[in-house]
Order: sequence, then structure tokens, then C-alpha cells
Amino acid sequence: MQVPFVDLHAQYLSIQPQIDNAISRAIRETDFIGGATVSSFEKEFAAFVGVKHCIACGNGTDSLEMILQALGIGPGDEVIVPAHSWISTSEAVSFIGARPVFVDTHPEYYTLLPDLLQGALSPATRAIMPVHLCGLAAPMEAILSFAHQHQLFVIEDCAQAHGSHVNGKPVGSMGIAGSFSFYPGKNLGAYGDGGAVVTNDDALAEKIRMIGNHGQKGKHNHLIEGRNSRLDALQAAILRAKLPHLAGWNAQRRSAAARYRELLNGLPITLPLERPGHGHVYHLFVIQTDQRDALMAFLADRGVQTAVHYPKALPALPCYDGKYDLNLYPHALQYTQCIVSLPMYAEITPEQQQYVADCIKAFFKV
Ligand SMILES: *Cc1c(COP(=O)(O)O)cnc(C)c1O
Repeated sequence: MQVPFVDLHAQYLSIQPQIDNAISRAIRETDFIGGATVSSFEKEFAAFVGVKHCIACGNGTDSLEMILQALGIGPGDEVIVPAHSWISTSEAVSFIGARPVFVDTHPEYYTLLPDLLQGALSPATRAIMPVHLCGLAAPMEAILSFAHQHQLFVIEDCAQAHGSHVNGKPVGSMGIAGSFSFYPGKNLGAYGDGGAVVTNDDALAEKIRMIGNHGQKGKHNHLIEGRNSRLDALQAAILRAKLPHLAGWNAQRRSAAARYRELLNGLPITLPLERPGHGHVYHLFVIQTDQRDALMAFLADRGVQTAVHYPKALPALPCYDGKYDLNLYPHALQYTQCIVSLPMYAEITPEQQQYVADCIKAFFKV
């Protein structure tokens, strides 16, 4: 049996008529950049997140950069970010000229540890950028109250957590702004690159919309210098066709996670933790074992694809060589040696999961 890491084809087949119609309609309308389809998607996605504004853009890295820029964060400023994430999180901070300050992450939730915020704080700190990694929301109550106390912005990186929530509050709606990616493999993915900023702040929304469209407020009225970061209508049409399925797909991911838990119960591995009140949407199903590399090779030989998200803590990447004291991130440095993500997508079948579990059992000889 073959079990891919994600199966975008299976998802396409499950909604093929809607996708094909959406694409051919977008081509017939020839409104390729901006236009009604993009605006409709923005309204629908804002409603999904429960915020006033959604500004669609080119990808989920641009969205982080544009939020930081629109908030006036730049050279001389610091932004607190988790030591474990996809590089966009810290890259966006450096890109706008500020300095990322890393804090260590929880050894099993993988999200930043709020108790460490105080130690990372300096007079230059302007914002905290929690990441809802793997589909699990960061501990927002503690983060928001610390931010409030020290007058910091909270920018949520929601690229892995579309539809997750904290006690009913959707991710992206709790900070000053939230950033989403629609990279194809995300819980809500386009058929190419895409991203969005969500916010309840009218002025911030207007500024970000200007930045993403060459600083224009109306045609040829360039109030500032911006950039080109827009979602195209084909991607918006595909995302509109997929959005109504997102909640159902997330529920399927949760069921698949529950099935993995049953099947893998009792093995010498660490299963993902769920934080009470925090809706996990299982972008990734991450386990830990100190025989990670051997297990991955064993599974690959048997047709089961796995991946590591991510093999190095951010401050340990070569691009930050010598810039950070790695002793500050013991959890992230340790568990990045042990984590492996199992195949996880809404369409994974019970038979595929049984096979993955059987292979893992064979590896551990149980
Ligand atoms: C995917 C991802 C991003 C960036 O998204 P792109 O659309 O690929 O630029 C940012 N942060 C995290 C945590 C991600 O997983």
C-alpha cells in the first residue's frame, strides 16, 4: 500500500465539479487580478474568521511582512517569535528590518512558552508573533494579557491553523491582525500561492490593502511606496469553492487524529497533546521517537511518506549562525531531533491509517 504524506488529488476528486466550474468561470470572466471573485472570497473568509476585514495577498509570508510594516515596526525594533516554526515567521521580522527575538517552545504543544516572554522583553520590543503550529492554537490568554500589560501588538501566524480556535474564538481574531497562507498543502489551500491578512482594525486594513497594491488608494494615487502582493482571481475562485468544506475537512482531520491515537496507543512514542479549549485542526500529526530517522526510513521502504516539521529550531538554522545563544532553546533543540509528521489529510482512509500503524508496530517489534 502507498500512503502519501498529503493527497491533494483525493481532495480535488471529492469536489471536482465545483473546482472545474470555478476555474472555467474565472477564465470566462477574465478578471484575473482583483475583481469581484477576490472581493467575495475576502468577505467570506473574514466571516469565517469572525473579523471585519480580510485582505487577500500573494502568500502567507507577504501577509506577515505587510502586517509588521503597516504597524510601523522596523529597524531598531524587536519582535518576539517562537524558536520553532517555519522560517517565514522570523524571516518576515528580519525582512522589514526589525530583529526577531526567539523564545523556547513547549516540548509537546510546540507553541511558544508564555512564561518566557518576560525574559525576552526589552525596551525595543514592539510585538509578539505567536504561531498556531501544527493546527494547535498557542496559549493566547497568557500571551494577550502579557502583551496588554506591556503595550505590545500580537500578530497571529495562522498559516497552519485555519479554523482552529481558543474557547470558541477563531485564530486570527484575537490579536491586532492574523496572517494566513493558502499554500496548497495547508488546511485551506489554493492551487498555487496565496495568503491573507485578517483584522478588525479599519485603519490597519486600509494601510495593508494599499501596501499590497503599490501603495495606491484608488488608481494612480500612490500615497506610499508599497509592493505587489495580490491574490489572483483563479486562486480566489478555487478558495471560494473550497471554503465551505473547510470545517468538514477539519472535522475529518480530527477523526483521523483520534483513530491514530487508538491505533498507536501503547507504543514507545509521544502522541500529540491537545490543549483543553483549544480546537486542534491537525494540520500535522506529529509524534516523537528517539529513533526518528530509522523509523522514517523503515516507513519509506514500505510506501509510507513522512516528513519533519522542522528538523532544526529557527535560531539553529545556518542563516542565524552565531547570532543567538542556543542554550536558551533547550526544548526546541531537543525535540527537533525526535519529531516526525505522519500522513495526515482529510481524505486519509481507515485502511491507510491501519497500514501506517501496522508498519510502526512492525518497526518497534510489537
Ligand atoms: C506556510 C507557513 C507560512 C508561509 O506561508 P507561504 O504562503 O508559504 O509564504 C508562514 N508561517 C507558517 C507557520 C507556515 O507554516
